[in-house]
Amino acid sequence: MGCVTPRVCENCAYPDEELVLVRRVYVTPETWDTPASHQVVDETELWCVSCRSQYPYELADDGEDDGEEEQD
Ligand SMILES: [Zn+2]
Repeated sequence: MGCVTPRVCENCAYPDEELVLVRRVYVTPETWDTPASHQVVDETELWCVSCRSQYPYELADDGEDDGEEEQD
């Protein structure tokens, strides 16, 4: 794991050393006949702290698997 290649955020292409592997979450707003929901994509991306502060996501590199909670 000695990769020293400069990495950039896969969402905004901003070079950042604090990139975190995440899964993007698409949030569907509530409408008159559909309750609000969210969908987590399978593909993982490396996001910078800025993107993580602006967009919904889930951490993908969870070392410990203690059960995922679905808030539905
Ligand atoms: Zn970013």
